[in-house]
Amino acid sequence: MKRAFRIALLAALPLWGAQVRIGVLGLFHPAAVTLAAKGIEIGGEYIELHDAAEVKAAGNRVAVTVGGRERRGPRLTASGPPVRARIAGKIDRSYQGSLEITAREGVLFVVVTMDRELAVAAVAASEMPHASPEALKALAVAARSYYAAGRRHNDFDFCDTTHCQLLKEAAAEGESAARQTRGQVLFYQGGIVGALHFGSCGGHTFAASDVGMDGGSYPFFAVACEACARHPEQWEARLPVRTVERTEAARLELARRFGWNRVASNDYAWERTSDGVILRGKGHGHGVGLCQRGAEGMARSGQRAESILDHYFPMTSIGR
Ligand SMILES: [Zn+2]
Ligand SMILES: [Zn+2]
Repeated sequence: MKRAFRIALLAALPLWGAQVRIGVLGLFHPAAVTLAAKGIEIGGEYIELHDAAEVKAAGNRVAVTVGGRERRGPRLTASGPPVRARIAGKIDRSYQGSLEITAREGVLFVVVTMDRELAVAAVAASEMPHASPEALKALAVAARSYYAAGRRHNDFDFCDTTHCQLLKEAAAEGESAARQTRGQVLFYQGGIVGALHFGSCGGHTFAASDVGMDGGSYPFFAVACEACARHPEQWEARLPVRTVERTEAARLELARRFGWNRVASNDYAWERTSDGVILRGKGHGHGVGLCQRGAEGMARSGQRAESILDHYFPMTSIGR
């Protein structure tokens, strides 16, 4: 046992570096999660796990049943990697880190602590699963920069949705992109850029202020995007509202009211109809920072990751 632990520790050493704490599964507001891990700790007791453990929220406490016996405590930690979490009928995901669970009013809150490089690999693989290597490398640098620029939540650093960065499971392509760009982040006037990225644009990106977003220390700049200008992804939406405002906050508000992704981007024209508005738009996502579709287009035409980053993040430099 002791020896196995030492070997695991040594194997993990080259990966040690900055850690990120990512709030996961929050979209599901889970009351129960099934865990598979090496072991769990609750109420000062460590339990080695041989089978999956059922974790439930009991008010503001966490309850877990292992081997027919229930334990309760203010928090549960599960040691990995990997730790596998399943919400029946909804999601089954493996995380390359350790996991901490607390409860509030019958809902479980799950936070994964993982090596930042592993998170970068997972983000790259989640956001652009079939991308060319140079596009993935550019995305990996942007993703790392975003994490390195500072936390975005109070109870943890980042979430696992597009609010921060989509985090699923790492794939080989993502790991390779993270490894080849290891430690690289974007700098602007001496500070790390919270580099944003999104699915596709309508032929040009937006400056953060164009859509009412706060870019932090970097203003972001509107740049032309060749691949999207040639073949934009088009969408249309009818909404029962009287007017729309072209800001990211307004778009997210419409998403909350009428369904995720109804207003797919901030690049649209709109007109009133008898019973609301009709929007005709181009692209997917907020439109600020690196356009993933455009980055893929640049990579396919032979451009390197450095040129892609330079294009979507003008005035920045790559450093460590
Ligand atoms: Zn977030
Ligand atoms: Zn684009």
